Amino acid sequence: MSTNAPQSASLPALLGGPPVRPAGPPRWPEDAPDVRESVERALRDGSWASYHGPNSEALSAALRQEFQVQHAGLFASGTAAVEMGLRGLRVGSGDEVLMSAYDFKGNFQDVLALDATPVLVDVLPGRWMIDTERIAEGISDRTKVLLVSHLHGELLDMPALRQLADRHGLAILEDACQVPGAVIAGRRAGAWGDAAALSFGGSKLLSAGRGGALLTDREDVVQRVRLHTQRGNDAYPLSELQAAALIPQLARLGADNARRAASVRALVEQGQAVCAGLPSTSSGPHAGNTAYYKLGLTVDRDVWSDLPAELVARAVQAEGFALHSAFRGLHRVHSQRRFRAVGDLSEASQADANTLVLHHPLLKEGPEATRRLLVALEKIQRHADTIRAACAKNPAS
Ligand SMILES: *Cc1c(COP(=O)(O)O)cnc(C)c1O
Repeated sequence: MSTNAPQSASLPALLGGPPVRPAGPPRWPEDAPDVRESVERALRDGSWASYHGPNSEALSAALRQEFQVQHAGLFASGTAAVEMGLRGLRVGSGDEVLMSAYDFKGNFQDVLALDATPVLVDVLPGRWMIDTERIAEGISDRTKVLLVSHLHGELLDMPALRQLADRHGLAILEDACQVPGAVIAGRRAGAWGDAAALSFGGSKLLSAGRGGALLTDREDVVQRVRLHTQRGNDAYPLSELQAAALIPQLARLGADNARRAASVRALVEQGQAVCAGLPSTSSGPHAGNTAYYKLGLTVDRDVWSDLPAELVARAVQAEGFALHSAFRGLHRVHSQRRFRAVGDLSEASQADANTLVLHHPLLKEGPEATRRLLVALEKIQRHADTIRAACAKNPAS
């Protein structure tokens, strides 16, 4: 065909065309002179070798200040922080914990680790947020805690959840691992729960490779956690070096979040036509106040000519972007003996099938980088039929 050359030049990279972003996703972790300097200082002054020293003290103080809470305990991971939160709120054998059926796997496993039972509640249609209206149906006389997570840049309606929990005498454990720095109704996400978890894992907005924190105002929670973790020494610690790496990141979190939010606003404004399914957060009641760790995108089968989400992700990755499948529905991957379900969890099944997430480093690069992402999405959408046919014929490719 005479049109062969221009056509192949516009082909998706998955089908042999040139990628939109040949260099691939931005480097992560980014080169951060402030982190390097802080870690080098800890190496020079010897604090790196302490069990507990000035860096952990400073990080804990900065977290208390940033989140306006009384206590910020440092732990080895976000998962450990969630487990400590559950313990601190007195979850034990035979108790029930209400949580979303679409959530981080570790949260489910933390509940099981305490010999308690997760009670799974559906998400709102087309969203990644627990359906507040359906929570009450799951309450029994064994319910202790409502464990709720802010996911993919969406923020939960914490005033409504707080009211509901108070009405039923439940404690809230708030998972703010994905949204450090976000503000809900004038208060930080993470300051609404009876206790809240942060993660400093290797891909997170505040990263030390590993790590986490438990925030709380409740003395009884701190005491119970201390009883569990103090075994001559701290059983699930964050190190001085990790704390040193985190201090400068926390100091610039607000500026970094603002930059990422501006990119998401541009992406949503320019991208509505091609990617129906971009998140509604930036136009919602919490506009401009959230944080983006992994930006969620819903693959609407109508818009994408029935191209499965997993194939959309593969095609976008081939173009040089870090877009991946997100969480599995907990009810889809765990034996039904492990949990109790409220209703059929059909919306969580939709979220399981149709959610993709974009890793945050691209958002810090600015408008040109996100414009290129739209170019890639448009290209793949234009060729959705061809991609589906090619991959159906040759699924291994
Ligand atoms: C990352 C994450 C955690 C904790 O992860 P760790 O790797 O254990 O620090 C918990 N909840 C959510 C929603 C997360 O995204």
